[in-house]
Amino acid sequence: MERMQQVVGRARAAFNSGRSRSLEFRIQQLTALERMVQEKEKDILAALHADLHKGGPNAYSHEILGVLAELALMKEKLPSWAAPQHVKKNLMTMRDEAYIGYEPLGVVLVIGAWNYPFVLVMQPLIGAIAAGNAVVVKPSEVSENTAQLVAELLPQYLDRELYPVVTGGVPETTELLTQRFDHILYTGNTAVGKIVMAAAAKHLTPVTLELGGKSPCYIDKDCDLAVACRRITWGKYMNCGQTCIAPDYILCDPSIQDKVVENIKATLQEFYGEDIKSSPDYERIVNKRHFKRVLGLLEGQKIAHGGEADEASCFIAPTILTDVSPESKVMEEEIFGPVLPIVTVKSVEEAIEFINRREKPLALYVFSNNKQLIKRVISQTSSGGVTGNDVIMHFFLSTLPFGGVGHSGMGAYHGKHSFETFSHRRACLIKDLKMESTNKMRYPPVSQKKVDWTKFIILRRFNRGRIGLAILALLGVVAAVMMKVVY
Ligand code: NAD
Repeated sequence: MERMQQVVGRARAAFNSGRSRSLEFRIQQLTALERMVQEKEKDILAALHADLHKGGPNAYSHEILGVLAELALMKEKLPSWAAPQHVKKNLMTMRDEAYIGYEPLGVVLVIGAWNYPFVLVMQPLIGAIAAGNAVVVKPSEVSENTAQLVAELLPQYLDRELYPVVTGGVPETTELLTQRFDHILYTGNTAVGKIVMAAAAKHLTPVTLELGGKSPCYIDKDCDLAVACRRITWGKYMNCGQTCIAPDYILCDPSIQDKVVENIKATLQEFYGEDIKSSPDYERIVNKRHFKRVLGLLEGQKIAHGGEADEASCFIAPTILTDVSPESKVMEEEIFGPVLPIVTVKSVEEAIEFINRREKPLALYVFSNNKQLIKRVISQTSSGGVTGNDVIMHFFLSTLPFGGVGHSGMGAYHGKHSFETFSHRRACLIKDLKMESTNKMRYPPVSQKKVDWTKFIILRRFNRGRIGLAILALLGVVAAVMMKVVY
């Protein structure tokens, strides 16, 4: 307990010193982080390989490229994002200065998950630094090599007091969560999300919860199945299915089920060759516990493809299940492994109903030649994010907020959304001490006439640029004169 108190206490003292606030400092820290990623690329790739058997090029594009892109974007845009944002004014404030000021929240806690262990702590960290906060980083103990490396590297490049790393598992995180933070961003499963939110509530700490769930993928009959299945295969089996926004299951008409299986099989061959086990592009399940859990989901199912497994190396082959009952175990929990169930539905209405009967997913995918149908599915369902005619890709567009809704999470980050998540948007109004007569309207003694004048002024809307503003100014003068004359 004492250790956590000290770590957070030091971070808070460093934040209170004010040094993380200047834009120069923030950009300098982001530049140092960039240097770290570039100089230690080999070490990062080795840790990712040790944890998840991620091959070099895959690990680079999934975990390093995104971090470098986020750093470049943040450094370029930060000066404009952090600048006061002037807002439209009304008649009462037309002579005043009104703006949204972005200020840091204070000490932020970032808790990462094991499946993309580097990017999932680095991306929130970048946003929190950019917004001027102190940040306590807690990587997942499940991917211990990456966690150790992050703990070793960050203090070599960043301000040690402002950005400490805490390693460890449930006991350490539980202790850490007793401390007071000004924001917590947690990535992981929904059950622990509730624990994090309950701990945060004790201090009234706001949270961003990046959770998971079962992300559905509907394939319309009117669709180029070869293209759709290639894209689905890529998103489902990358990182051995251990991706929060992987398509969890497929919904499609019974008449196309076999063709979907054939196309996915063909793509698997194209991507990973005859002997998937020896493909450098195919990862492994993170540990024995998850290996057993995923294999358990196959019990009693019709395996149309795959199903082979090797416990010693935590290998599970890309697997497809057909005619899956919506009541089966594999349809109850998030799969988080290379198993793709197909549930047949007779129409898009049935698919929509199926999706809406379950918790709101983190992602939703729809494939169709008919864009109207895609828009219809979007408008009649809810999910954290959605991609039409592809999977995963909304994650990579940093102008889109990334986050869940309902049981798949709350809040969002990436790009400017990260900066905003870790900032307080302060309402700032600076008036001058002149024109006191106009204020008479709001001072006692009140009268109906005053209310009528206020109503007249407040309820006018002028949206016609300069002309509107000129009329507004004129009204202001009239109001001021009337106040003097009438009252
Ligand atoms: P995990 O086991 O790494 O746990 C996540 C973090 O929570 C770890 O840092 C761990 O130390 C901490 N933790 C675990 N139990 C705790 C407890 N009882 N009290 C306090 N802290 C605790 O990861 P996981 O939960 O297995 O991650 C997989 C889940 O995360 C999936 O549901 C997946 O969909 C989701 N996920 C979501 C995103 C996203 O961006 N929305 C990204 C990746 C994973």
